[in-house]
Amino acid sequence: MTDKKLDSLNIDSDRIWKSLTEISVFGATPAGGLNRLAASESDGQARDYVVAAAKEIGCTVRIDALGNTFMRRAGNDATAKAILVGSHLDSQPFGGKYDGIYGVMAGLEVLRALHSSNTQTSHPIELAVWTNEEGARFAPAMMGAAYFAGKFSAAELLSRVDTEGEKLGDSLAAIGYAGTDVVKPTEHVAYLEIHIEQGPILQDENLDIGIVTAVQGMRWFRVNFTGQSGHTGTYPMEIRRDALVAASALVKAVQQIGLEEPNLGRATVGHLVVSPNSPNVIPGHVELMVEFRHPEGEVLDVMTTKLHAAISEIKKSSLVEVEIKQELDSATINFTPDLIEIVRQAVTATNLKGKQMLSGAGHDACQLAAVMPTAMIFIPCDKGISHAEDEDITQVWSTNGAQVLLQTVLKLDLKTGTT
Ligand SMILES: [Zn+2]
Repeated sequence: MTDKKLDSLNIDSDRIWKSLTEISVFGATPAGGLNRLAASESDGQARDYVVAAAKEIGCTVRIDALGNTFMRRAGNDATAKAILVGSHLDSQPFGGKYDGIYGVMAGLEVLRALHSSNTQTSHPIELAVWTNEEGARFAPAMMGAAYFAGKFSAAELLSRVDTEGEKLGDSLAAIGYAGTDVVKPTEHVAYLEIHIEQGPILQDENLDIGIVTAVQGMRWFRVNFTGQSGHTGTYPMEIRRDALVAASALVKAVQQIGLEEPNLGRATVGHLVVSPNSPNVIPGHVELMVEFRHPEGEVLDVMTTKLHAAISEIKKSSLVEVEIKQELDSATINFTPDLIEIVRQAVTATNLKGKQMLSGAGHDACQLAAVMPTAMIFIPCDKGISHAEDEDITQVWSTNGAQVLLQTVLKLDLKTGTT
């Protein structure tokens, strides 16, 4: 098949849009969002919907021990490794209809487009639904993909419990997704994931597609301020050890650390617990979380050094004790240059406007990148809103993304020949 013929192969805009509408009923919230926690009944229903659609077009279905669900369309070379596409169907408790779900439905649409046009690829094309990407019900996030990448054993993850004490293994069994198939990364030649951007850049810049080059690194620090509580009406100002005043100095310092890394640096205090939190008691204790994000580890080191310097300064000037503990150190994930180039070519072939960009959020692809060539594609989402019930996309964005995913799959199938 010539490249020209491939370029004219189209996805069906109405078909993918209809599938996004149909699957959004499972776990729908009154406000138009989604409450579809991992391995819940509605997660099972959403999976059943995708599995039935894949079976209808002749795909074979496998389910592994973590419930990761694989739907494979055969290629014409029996020895070729599969091209893997995928994302997740679970949501936050008050999440949106597209985070993760769009990637699965775009993958399904690629399989459907190949089927309805009777296009034979040399490689099998396999669609994966990863279990528990969000981590909202069971920790950690990106669990199914991490299991697939070999970071955990099935036993240690299946015994994780939710806040009700229910084990993940029991929840998966209840919805019929406690599988026994063994699916290994060595079966696959590469992984592609398409996802909503979860940020405002593409819409602001009037672009169709984000060609994701990397997922930025992130560090979390828990900081505890211990001063002295006391009566606000009687205790003199000069000798107070007010933990909140000391903490507020750090909040400002963290903002400054972010501003000193223009464009790419992100520095946030998004969690603050004040004790005793009463209008007429001097705050004796404050706990806060500092989060830094940046694509370069060296810059995260600089930001961390500045954080420690700011804390030393606050200790000296405030009579408040300050303790800091690092809670998370997640390194930057760089996607595969050859694959990024194929995505770029697919954007050009579909006459869309794209640009290379970073992902600010973590995705299943971060786990897959450890075990096979991996790339990600973004579509815009309205006002950059996600993890919220008013998360939204347009049919045009949905169509463009699926088209780029299809072209990327086809170009990759040609490029990698029969290896
Ligand atoms: Zn997601």
